[in-house]
Amino acid sequence: MMSRILLILTISFLFSCTSKKAPFIYDKTLKENEAFHSDGFVFPIGKNGIEGYYNAQKFRENDHLGEDWNGKGGGNTDLGDPIYAASHGYVFFAGNLGGGWGNVVRVIHYLPNHPEYEFIETVYAHCDEILVNHGELVKRGQKIGTIGNNEGMYNAHLHFELRTRVGRALGGGYSEDASGFLDPTKFIKSNRP
Ligand SMILES: [Zn+2]
Repeated sequence: MMSRILLILTISFLFSCTSKKAPFIYDKTLKENEAFHSDGFVFPIGKNGIEGYYNAQKFRENDHLGEDWNGKGGGNTDLGDPIYAASHGYVFFAGNLGGGWGNVVRVIHYLPNHPEYEFIETVYAHCDEILVNHGELVKRGQKIGTIGNNEGMYNAHLHFELRTRVGRALGGGYSEDASGFLDPTKFIKSNRP
């Protein structure tokens, strides 16, 4: 009887350990890899700044939770253009979610010297190609994917989000409640490398 209770206690202890630790792998991985600590952000498109691109739907426009970056040529002229990691970080998710999202990359950044945020997440959606894998560490400016149109659902563009609550459910990209989201352009401009 006693051994059975001990066994149950042991199993439930092990179970609670794994279920608690799993979401925090990014935390440990990032803190242990100093070369991947974030020391500034850049725009995820364009080689020298955002030349050649425009923000077609700004943060909070139509309750938008991100920004839609499009090539100035319009239509699908930007299809296949590179998407760059906005800062050093950990690939928290890379895969196809279907629906309105398509191929999505989510990167978590560790900012040990930032006065407000210890972690920031960037989201890159509707990618044509994904060039990174879950669990990978990436450098700022590294090509992580290409701009896509979610199999013809949209004109090619990058939906880009910047989140202060990292690793949460992806949601719908639009909401009246923008808590946990920041204006990406504003944040990048005030957190340059
Ligand atoms: Zn969007």
